[in-house]
Amino acid sequence: MKLFDVYPLYDVEPVKAQDCTVWDKDGKEYLDLYGGHAVISIGHAHPHYVNKLKNQLDNIGFYSNAVQNSLQKEVATKLGALSGCNEYELFLCSSGAEANENALKLASFHNGKHRVVSFQNGFHGRTSAAVVATDNKAIIAPLNAQQEVAILPLGNLEAVETELAKNDVCAVIIEPIQGVGGLDEAETEFFQGLEKLCKQYNTCLVLDEVQSGFGRTGKFFGFQHQGIKPDIISMAKGMGNGFPIGGILIAPHIESKFGLLGTTFGGNHLACAACIAVLDVLEKESLIEKAQLTGNYFIQKAQDIPGVKQVKGRGLMLGLEFDYEVGPLRKELIYNKRMFTGGAKNKNLLRILPPLTIGTTEIDSFIATVKEVVLEKV
Ligand code: PLP
Repeated sequence: MKLFDVYPLYDVEPVKAQDCTVWDKDGKEYLDLYGGHAVISIGHAHPHYVNKLKNQLDNIGFYSNAVQNSLQKEVATKLGALSGCNEYELFLCSSGAEANENALKLASFHNGKHRVVSFQNGFHGRTSAAVVATDNKAIIAPLNAQQEVAILPLGNLEAVETELAKNDVCAVIIEPIQGVGGLDEAETEFFQGLEKLCKQYNTCLVLDEVQSGFGRTGKFFGFQHQGIKPDIISMAKGMGNGFPIGGILIAPHIESKFGLLGTTFGGNHLACAACIAVLDVLEKESLIEKAQLTGNYFIQKAQDIPGVKQVKGRGLMLGLEFDYEVGPLRKELIYNKRMFTGGAKNKNLLRILPPLTIGTTEIDSFIATVKEVVLEKV
């Protein structure tokens, strides 16, 4: 049987990984500045993570959401304490798109409205409502198009108010820093204005923290740089360090009811064990503070890379914007310099999303390599 051909693949196959290092099937070693797309938060094969999962598997890997599972409560308690979002309630699922889908659906149940507002260059996933809120027509099927979403310019509060005043918008969904779109971030004034407008018009403010959450930006959640309190927060990627787990945090004024949301796999024993291990390590190794410091170091060091117009992002959710397309540079980095990096919708942007454990030595080596490649090219 052949695989359905939807991914343009690099010709490299990682088979082993440790912290920020990846080895391919021929034993070649790579520096991981991509974290498997912002997923690896506490480093590959962290011993605490590996032990937690192995032990859990020896006991019970899965049951169902029809019975008690105290691991879910442990996730909620630890997540509440470390994120500072103790008053929120937790619903667990298995991916980022599913988290956003549940967030939008819950908003709609809560206020009885049906339209969504999202922003240009945003990415929220590939499922029903999440994909329509995503600014990429190529991935919206006719089936999805029945969802009503207004995609507005990032930063334009007047445009938001015009839509919310129609009184049919259930949710405004926004990334604190755009990931796939290319690391753009709205001003604090805009985020605070959104919060105010959402309250005024009884619309839920949904912060998509699927990529930016779990310490990546140097705070537990990206919105915490903006001094706002969302109604719903969606999360996934870094949450399980590679084990599929997602979830939403729900503000206390949104009421639960049996059957409102549900899933077979969400919050299963293995997924919870993975997330608990991530939370333990984030705290014990102060990785959120470290992401902030290492990110600042990177931003400072990257300023004088020839051809870099702008260093974007925060913490270890970063982008180097060149004045030319970075496709060939990424290829050179992966095939000849053995360094994984990411791309974006903005073709001039090289994305840097390493494990939060990365140190300054690795950053120095990356920056020196990029300088070398860029100068050779010129
Ligand atoms: N939201 C954001 C901000 C993302 O970056 C992504 C994935 O890249 C998603 C949602 C979708 O997550 P998933 O691929 O787990 O469905």
